[in-house]
Amino acid sequence: MEYLALNNGNKMPMDGIGVFLLKPEEAEASVLSALNDGVRLIDTANAYMNEKAVGRAIRRSGVNREEIFLVTKLWPTVYEDENAIDETLKRLDTDYIDLLFLHQPAGNWRKGYELMERAYKEGKVKALGVSNFPEEYLKEIIDNAEIKPQMVQVEAHPYYPQTELKKLLKETGMGLMAWYPLGHGDKSLINEKVFTRLAKKYGKTNAQIILRWHVQSGNIIFPGSKNPAHIRDNFNIFDFELSDEEMAEIAKVNKNVRYYNATVEEAQRYAHMELDFNSQP
Ligand code: NAD
Repeated sequence: MEYLALNNGNKMPMDGIGVFLLKPEEAEASVLSALNDGVRLIDTANAYMNEKAVGRAIRRSGVNREEIFLVTKLWPTVYEDENAIDETLKRLDTDYIDLLFLHQPAGNWRKGYELMERAYKEGKVKALGVSNFPEEYLKEIIDNAEIKPQMVQVEAHPYYPQTELKKLLKETGMGLMAWYPLGHGDKSLINEKVFTRLAKKYGKTNAQIILRWHVQSGNIIFPGSKNPAHIRDNFNIFDFELSDEEMAEIAKVNKNVRYYNATVEEAQRYAHMELDFNSQP
């Protein structure tokens, strides 16, 4: 495993598992399988409605909580709720979160950030981040927040490598968690010729080549999967290294296109998307 040093002195594993779109029983099984394989980074969110299942998988695994890097995200409807973080902790069955995000640039996100800063000072949260935020809002936070953010979480993959944003992150020592690291499983991305060729050369799968490219680009990855073989493969990318020339070749597949485009105006609808987080099994 390789680790990323955060700008507050903490460190985080660069490869984990995400549980977006997984039903509670699927999330529990996937996280358990991943933890058994040695994966130590887990990414969930209030809105995934599977935080309780993630908490159960951690308990069942028998892995010490301190060995796990647990990431979750506050949904915009709770940005003004003083109890939101305590309730998140309760659902996850833990007394701290390693990295907490504001999930969307919607609703009263400034108040949401203050809630996270308070929890950070209380030791309930060890690092802060924002997800899907436009650079303008991110800069406002970087310039004004008492506790500076450590991380962004944004869509990133070889078709959309986030080149511009990464310049800003470099200046501030912030890291990038890449969602849709495999293009959400898009076959045309995974089957790009360059990945097939490098997969043959290194005795890896195309997906493993893409994930290795991410890590060597400094991105943290947490691909989603219900398939135990894929979960294992996605973690088995630390025994080979792509050359500078190969990294440059992969850079050529950049199309500067995202799979998911939401403007800040569109994201505002999330502020009205009420979810009953505590109803999940
Ligand atoms: P992904 O790019 O990780 O692709 C997942 C899909 O790829 C799976 O459905 C699976 O079919 C396939 N796959 C996984 N491993 C594979 C392998 N080894 N070989 C071939 N195919 C494989 O997309 P994702 O799961 O949607 O995103 C990853 C994580 O990002 C999510 O689970 C979630 O935690 C996070 N996420 C965050 C946001 C956000 O707004 N912050 C948005 C979307 C996703």
